[in-house]
Parts: sequence; C-alpha cells; structure tokens
Amino acid sequence: LGSRDQHWEMRVRSLPGGQRIVHLSDRTGSHAADRIRVDFVANASHELRTPLASILGFIETLEDAADDPETHARFLNVMGTEARRMQRLIDDLMSLSRIEAEKYRAPDDSVDLAALAREVRDELAAVAPERASDVVIDAAALPPVRGDKVQLSQLLHNIVGNAMKYGRAGTPVAVTLKASGDSMIRLSVADESEGIAPEHLPRLTERFYRVDSSRSRAAGGTGLGLAIVKHIVERHRGRLDIGSVVGKGTTVTIFLPAAPASQ
Ligand code: ADP
Repeated sequence: LGSRDQHWEMRVRSLPGGQRIVHLSDRTGSHAADRIRVDFVANASHELRTPLASILGFIETLEDAADDPETHARFLNVMGTEARRMQRLIDDLMSLSRIEAEKYRAPDDSVDLAALAREVRDELAAVAPERASDVVIDAAALPPVRGDKVQLSQLLHNIVGNAMKYGRAGTPVAVTLKASGDSMIRLSVADESEGIAPEHLPRLTERFYRVDSSRSRAAGGTGLGLAIVKHIVERHRGRLDIGSVVGKGTTVTIFLPAAPASQ
C-alpha cells in the first residue's frame, strides 16, 4: 500500500453471508495539510513565547533592582529589542493571513516596478544606512506589472532586505528588472555572500525555515519573509526561483505578469 508517508483510511462493511466490502481512501493530502497547520501554530507560539519569556524575566529582575538607574536603562533597552521582535513576527503573521485571504482575488493595480524598487531601496537605506550605497538598480524601460502594489512592495522589501542582510558588507546587491518574452517582467536580486547549500534551497519558502537560526535572529529575521514572497508570487500567477552558488552568492528571480497594454 505505498510508502510510509502515505495515509490510508480503511472501512470494512460486513455483508450477510460472510462477505466483506473493504473501502480504502487515500488521506495523504489532508493528513499532510493537518500536519503543516499543527506545526505552524506550534512554531509561531514558540517564536512568540521566547521573547515574551525574556521580557517577563527582565520585569521580575527590574522589580528587584528598583533603584539602580543604570540597570533600568540597560534592561529597558533589551526589553525594547525583544518587544520589537514580537512586533515584527506579529506583522508578518498578519501579512501571511491577509495574503492568503486574498488568494482568489486577482490583483489589478498597474504597478511601475522600477519606481517601486527605488522607493523600497530608499526605505531600506533608512534602516541599514551602511548597506545603502551597495544596492544598484538596473531597470530597462518596462511595461507596468499587473499586481497589488502593497504586496509587491513587501515582496521587494523581503528579497532586497535579505540580500542586504545576508550579503557580504561592501559588496553589491544587484536589482535587475527586464521584460522577458511571454508578457512577463523578470525581477532578479543578486548578492555576493557565502551562498546557500543546495539541500536547503527547496525548503527556504517554508514558514520558519532558516539555514542559520541565530544569524537570522541577530539580523532581525522572522523566518517568514520568503514564505510571504512565495504567497505573493502565487497570488500574482508568477514564478519564483532561488539559485545559489556556495562561496559566491544567491540570486532570487521572480517573473510577474505585465499589465495588458490597454491599462
Ligand atoms: P529570515 O527572516 O530568517 O531572513 P526568510 O524567510 O526571509 O527568513 O529566509 C529564510 C532563510 O533563508 C533565512 O533565514 C536565511 O537562512 C536564508 N536566506 C534568505 N535569503 C538569503 C540570501 N540572500 N542569502 C543567504 N541566505 C538567505
């Protein structure tokens, strides 16, 4: 009856005269979906509980060290960092559920992707000024994309932000926009870094999957960025490809449908 990853439901009905009908149903799909849901809730709770436990611990310690202003300032600072981590995680969880809720509504803004990429670069530059001058945008004259502007901005934030976070300091982050055949626009974001080993590549868009958890957390990552990107690409009927060469760097390529000429 197939491999161990398969789940079958068996029902047996006895007929008069001793005969039996055996009814087998393949439940592999719904079983896997249940697992993913249960794992997701467990992971999300764990990710929220860790900073919360740390905040609660610091509150207790502060209550004991009531009149030392230096300790106060230091602990408040750590509590702020942990609270912001929770905030980023909650924002990303809400984004995921919003994108999923809109899954069946076709996006219909006409979006100038090159202008949006420049806006996102400026926003990211404000947060990571040390990497700002490394982001280079190369955009040929492009037709607009048919999409959801808010979601495409988030998509750009996540992949350009990752290239800035995980790329080597001082090396370029190359954002390239080109019309490809078949009425699609090709967006690629390439960084120079130690790259990602091939066994990780197929799992990067899973929720909370990280190659190096402590590095992701230190860089302020939630582990949800690429899961969000994948959902946005799916809603836009686009394609996502992540390629990486160990020792050289990573390139994320996304194809999005161009808006019809009449728009
Ligand atoms: P995170 O919030 O941890 O960055 P993502 O979902 O955006 O989560 O990415 C998942 C993981 O993929 C990251 O933790 C990191 O290990 C890896 N990753 C993503 N983008 C890059 C990149 N440009 N270079 C190297 N590793 C990357």
